[in-house]
Amino acid sequence: MIRMLLEVENLKKYYPITGGFFKRKLGEVKAVDGVSFALKAGETLGLVGESGCGKSTAGRTILRLADPTDGRILFQGKDITGIKGDELRKTRRDMQMVFQDPYASLNPKMMVGDIIAEPIRNYEQRTKRELKDSVMELLDKVGLPGDAYYKYPHEFSGGQRQRIGIARSLALKPKLIVGDEPVSALDVSVQSQVLNLMQDLQEEFQLTYLFIAHDLSVVEHVSDRIGVMYLGRLAELADKEGLYKEPLHPYTQALLSAIPVPDPRRRKQRIVLSGDVPSPANPPGGCAFHPRCMHAKPECREIKPLLREVTPGHQVACHLYP
Ligand code: SF4
Repeated sequence: MIRMLLEVENLKKYYPITGGFFKRKLGEVKAVDGVSFALKAGETLGLVGESGCGKSTAGRTILRLADPTDGRILFQGKDITGIKGDELRKTRRDMQMVFQDPYASLNPKMMVGDIIAEPIRNYEQRTKRELKDSVMELLDKVGLPGDAYYKYPHEFSGGQRQRIGIARSLALKPKLIVGDEPVSALDVSVQSQVLNLMQDLQEEFQLTYLFIAHDLSVVEHVSDRIGVMYLGRLAELADKEGLYKEPLHPYTQALLSAIPVPDPRRRKQRIVLSGDVPSPANPPGGCAFHPRCMHAKPECREIKPLLREVTPGHQVACHLYP
């Protein structure tokens, strides 16, 4: 039996909308609305969707940086949905996050050496010498020179700052890393360097990645499987080959058609989606994608499609597939 590192079952994260003098609850934003998937040890799952689709909230909730509204999160077979205090603290050392904006996530007043050493100091008793050796080793692993130890974040480029963020996330030798758009803020020329580094480190440290991105082109090279999210739910979940060769959901097809392809023979006609993503505070009934879907049928307005496996390993939530 394949051991799952992470199992997410019907995860929901709702935020109340309050108003008026007494801050009465007026409604709720269903940021994540019933997401389920599992992640094998050593695997990379790309989670993709437009901004506001709930992918980052899902990542933060899985790491228990936000409390889930409903559902279950199993990490290494253990239910971590409701754990608190010391139990949560112990679990957190095995689950780390790499943030989108490497500058905002690094304390500008701290030396890089201290930034990277901070998680180790929080969890382990080490001598100054041991701590410094560990940081030097981490700097080397992420391709930064040793003198970076004594510098401050503003002295580095965006790509180098993301390397510092990655070194910090590796400091406790975690099992799972959630990358929340880790290369979105970087120049295209630097993105592939950081992606290659993350792949090399995955092999060396046997890491499992949940890789969040708003663009299917970014996750193609790093992911084994890909989940496409729309308005808090998974629209499609498949292995990489299946998803890129034969996307089933009309939303995935539109996202893929927007990726620039240099070879004109491989270019597909661009599917331009009409309208914007509706508000998660007031999602459309039935299939949430129906106001923008060119294949919508009457039942799409009434019945919410469930995520179902239509070919081995390929799941889709769409009424086009009986
Ligand atoms: Fe389009 Fe209907 Fe499928 Fe939704 S369920 S994606 S509206 S065809």
